Amino acid sequence: MRFEALSVFPEFFDSYLDMSIMGRARKRSVFEFVAHDLRSWTHDRHNTVDDSPFGGGQGMLMKPAPLFEAIEDISSRGEARPHVVFFSPCGRPYCQAVAEELSHKNRILLVCGRYEGMDERAYELADDIVSMGDYVLTGGELAALCVIDSVVRLLPGALGDEMSAKDESFSDGLLEYAQYTRPAVFRGRAVPEVLLSGNHAAVDAWRRRNAIERTARWRPDLLEVAELTDEERAFAERSMREERQ
Ligand code: SAM
Repeated sequence: MRFEALSVFPEFFDSYLDMSIMGRARKRSVFEFVAHDLRSWTHDRHNTVDDSPFGGGQGMLMKPAPLFEAIEDISSRGEARPHVVFFSPCGRPYCQAVAEELSHKNRILLVCGRYEGMDERAYELADDIVSMGDYVLTGGELAALCVIDSVVRLLPGALGDEMSAKDESFSDGLLEYAQYTRPAVFRGRAVPEVLLSGNHAAVDAWRRRNAIERTARWRPDLLEVAELTDEERAFAERSMREERQ
C-alpha cells in the first residue's frame, strides 16, 4: 500500500509515521509514504497557493491551479492512478467501515486542505471526500494521519502477532470490552473475578456481554446495525433501558 500526501506542510508527517507501530510497519514495507509539497506546482516568486474568495468573506482559499497541476502530475506517475481523497467537514463521515474500504486500495493520495478551504472546482478531482467529525481542524494533515494510521492497522503484518485489529472497537459493530492489567485490586477496585479464572469460554462470554453493555451506554446507535443473536439483542435492549433510567 502506498500513501501520498499533498500538503503545504510536507514535513508534518514523518515524526508520527516513523514511531511505534507505524514506524515498524513502514520499516517492514507494510506501507510506503511520500509527502508532496503543493508549492512545487506554483509558478510565481512567492510560491503562492492561496487567494481571497470572490464575493468577499473571511480568510483565504486554496487556488485551483496548483491543486489541479499537482494532482494531475502525481496521478500520471507510477503504474496505478491513486485513489484521491480530499478532506472537508462537508465530506462523508470517516469510520472503521471507510478505513476497511480504503485498506483494499493500492495507492491513496491524501489532499490536505488549509486556510478556509479550497476553490470548489478542485473537488472535481476527488474520488472521495471525508470528514473526521463535526468540528473544524486547521488543516487536513491531521485528518490524513488519522486515515493512514487507521488503514495501516488493518494491513497484514502491521500489528505484531500478539495484537489483532479483529478484536478492536467497531470491528464487530460494537465498542471494545473493558480491559484490566495488574494489580488485581487497585485502590480498592477489583478486576472482575471471571478475568482471573483462567476459564477462556467464561472470559469470552463476559467480554461479549461487556462490549454490548458499553455500546448500549455510550453508542446505542451502533446497536441498531450490530450483528447480535436474539438473546444478545434482548440483553442490549435491557441495557439501553437501564441506561435511560
Ligand atoms: N471553512 C471550512 C468549513 O467551514 O467547512 C473549514 C476549513 S478548515 C479551517 C481547513 C481544512 O482543514 C479543510 O479544507 C480540510 O482539509 C481540513 N479539515 C478541517 N476540518 C475537518 C474535518 N472535520 N474533517 C476533515 N478535514 C477537515
